[in-house]
Amino acid sequence: MYESEREIAVEIVAEVCDLTRRVQEGIVAAGDALTKDDRSPVTLADLAAQVVVSLRLAQEFPDDPLLAEEDSAALAGSPDMTDRVLEQVRKHFASLSRDELTGALNRGDHPGGGSGRYWVLDPIDGTKGFLRGDQYAVALALVVHGTVAIGVLGCPNLPAVQQVSDRGSLFSAVRGNGALSHSLDGAIGGAIHVDAITDPAAAVVCESVVAAHAAHSVQAGIAERLGISAPPYRIDSQCKYAVVARGEASIYLRLPRDTSYREKVWDHAAGVVVIEEAGGRVTDLDGRPLDFSHGRLLANHRGIVATNSAIHDQVLDACRAELGLD
Ligand code: AMP
Ligand code: MG
Repeated sequence: MYESEREIAVEIVAEVCDLTRRVQEGIVAAGDALTKDDRSPVTLADLAAQVVVSLRLAQEFPDDPLLAEEDSAALAGSPDMTDRVLEQVRKHFASLSRDELTGALNRGDHPGGGSGRYWVLDPIDGTKGFLRGDQYAVALALVVHGTVAIGVLGCPNLPAVQQVSDRGSLFSAVRGNGALSHSLDGAIGGAIHVDAITDPAAAVVCESVVAAHAAHSVQAGIAERLGISAPPYRIDSQCKYAVVARGEASIYLRLPRDTSYREKVWDHAAGVVVIEEAGGRVTDLDGRPLDFSHGRLLANHRGIVATNSAIHDQVLDACRAELGLD
């Protein structure tokens, strides 16, 4: 089940990774000309990527709605940005009009929930990494009756394992059918699996680069409780799920600095099924699996803990002890 959807979703993400790479290479080439506060390159890539995914999905699955991060508000009062997005998208859809562009962007307004099926998109997850010329992910998932059925992660700057010169990896998973690695053009590499460690002290912990997105000092305390001596592996975006899924790290911790913050479904849907199908486990701090049926937010969870499964309970115990939750 869902194998044809997986195949199409992989093709779409591969196509969009070409687009995002094109734009990111432009940023790197612009070098010093880019001021630190100029977010326009990521806005350009973000919006153009969402339009291409939206149009491709509408062609392939006209009845499926889309829940996506962006909308056309980002273009309001900016004819210049509209032109730049159109220029990028026309490399994929040659005759697209301005109105069609706006319509494709706004098609991503699905409210989510627990009934029917819908696609979930983060066109550029890890925008800070993208601007740095570093890691980011194109994340596409299919949610069916509130459960993530398919996840695809395009990671254009994440080297394929044992092929360090080959920039770019892509991952896909179908619930119940395993997780695969692909090359960035979508060709299947092989099955991926989490690592087999059973001693948490041997773990490497992944966490956000951006300190506002996760409590680095609390996470350091948890690592210490577990006897972990390796430094944290800081990497932007859902690439964190991918590196645990393929066994390069054993833990992904995302404990909020701001306890009122609620995670967005598009920041986790694809990554969660990729890691679970690779043999991993994902819960909140209470040990509950993430519930994707509550709209555009993961409304009922605090903190996210993803592991190779084997060490999950020990990691949860350490988190709860560090936070004084028991
Ligand atoms: P990361 O690449 O792990 O730093 O995560 C990037 C994602 O963090 C973005 O896509 C945002 O949606 C999300 N984000 C924004 N603000 C916060 C916050 N205060 N806490 C946690 N995540 C956030
Ligand atoms: Mg994101």
